[in-house]
Amino acid sequence: MPENKIWDEKYECMSREEMKKLQSEKLVKQVRHVWDNVPYYKKLMEEKGVTPDDIQSIDDLHKLPFLSKADLRDAYPYGLLAKPLSECVRIHSTSGTTGKRVVAFYTQNDVDMWEECTARAITAAGGGKDDVCHVAYGYGLFTGGMGLHGGSHKVGCLTLPMSSGSTERQIQFMQDLGSTILCCTPSYAAYIGETVAEMGIKPEELKLKAGIFGAEPWTEEMRQEIERMLGIKAYDIYGLTESSGPGVAFECCEQNGMHINEDHFFAEIIDPDTGEQLPEGSKGELVFTSLDKEAFPLLRYRTRDVCVLSREKCSCGRTLVKMAKPMGRTDDMLIIKGVNVFPSQIEAGLLKMSNATPNYQIVVDRVGTTDTFEILVEVSPDMFSDTVKTFEELQKKIAGDIHSMLGIRAKIKLVEPKSIPRSEGKAVRVVDKRKLV
Ligand code: ADP
Ligand code: ZN
Repeated sequence: MPENKIWDEKYECMSREEMKKLQSEKLVKQVRHVWDNVPYYKKLMEEKGVTPDDIQSIDDLHKLPFLSKADLRDAYPYGLLAKPLSECVRIHSTSGTTGKRVVAFYTQNDVDMWEECTARAITAAGGGKDDVCHVAYGYGLFTGGMGLHGGSHKVGCLTLPMSSGSTERQIQFMQDLGSTILCCTPSYAAYIGETVAEMGIKPEELKLKAGIFGAEPWTEEMRQEIERMLGIKAYDIYGLTESSGPGVAFECCEQNGMHINEDHFFAEIIDPDTGEQLPEGSKGELVFTSLDKEAFPLLRYRTRDVCVLSREKCSCGRTLVKMAKPMGRTDDMLIIKGVNVFPSQIEAGLLKMSNATPNYQIVVDRVGTTDTFEILVEVSPDMFSDTVKTFEELQKKIAGDIHSMLGIRAKIKLVEPKSIPRSEGKAVRVVDKRKLV
């Protein structure tokens, strides 16, 4: 069992009543701050007929209007800024995978709060002063690198600001400098694991003990694969640029869902069609309110991530609400032949089969009015040199499994090892050639 260390017991283990009181106080102040400083959001509130006086506690949150990614794009770049630029010290930006970039601003207090959140995550993964924290998330506008870097400093780890790329050099440094905690995207962790094996290094020859992986959806099966390849415990971390970056939620030693830093970020689950708040345990769209961010506060921001919240008691002692692994965004969901398909379902299915690797790509196209659905799956090198017969059998088996899982047929194409491009950041799992807009 990994060690169970807690960074800030006061907040991470707060009683429900105290937490609610704290959240309510912060929300009342935050709404006032936004009303006074962000004309864009004030207008949205006026349109909904709400004023700051209507918000007396966290239970009133549902009265406020939502903010969406479209609002952020509309208001680009300064429209949602709530502090003068002279008080801001940092800018980050989304990876822009879903359209025009979104920029977020930070005051020094915002940076400090964010780094507290990542420090909690690193501590929960067993990190402390004696650790060498190897940050292989990209540095720069992307929040991953700087976010984990700041938390690592706070915890007092020896921080290795590697950024992503130059995989063999990463591994060389891991060996020479004794990295104990690896932070990067799960797809990059899998790529590092694969390269470690190719370099003839056994996982036990590395000092790595834990990894903190996030910024993209990944499955339980992928977790097991990475843990095996690198000989570590792999922890999930969640966040989005709009709400600071990674660290909004993090996994503890239970490794079954992420505790949300709810003294800073209040989470709701809503029905994406009606906007109604859903009861605890329901699956729906995750909505975040930043309770104390200064420069770029977001009230009821619709993440489009599909998720479930749980307040079941956690053995780590934290009382912070937990969110399940988001299994894709409402806008990542593919509709193929009328069926809803999340890439993560396919990943889970593939990784359950031996001989399939975590490298796959989904290609969707349209011929006339019919969707075509193809999955490229890399097989292990020994499999690739096998007989045509075993090859065909595997292809058939995967096709059968996908069919029974989704109810639609996909053409399975087994491809050579290394033929699907590797990712040093977020992986590209879907190539949708249909022009549906
Ligand atoms: P972009 O929208 O351009 O990708 P970000 O880099 O801010 O911008 O990405 C935030 C999104 O990444 C989240 O809304 C979520 O969809 C995804 N994400 C982040 N962490 C995780 C995680 N641990 N599991 C699943 N998805 C994640
Ligand atoms: Zn826990």
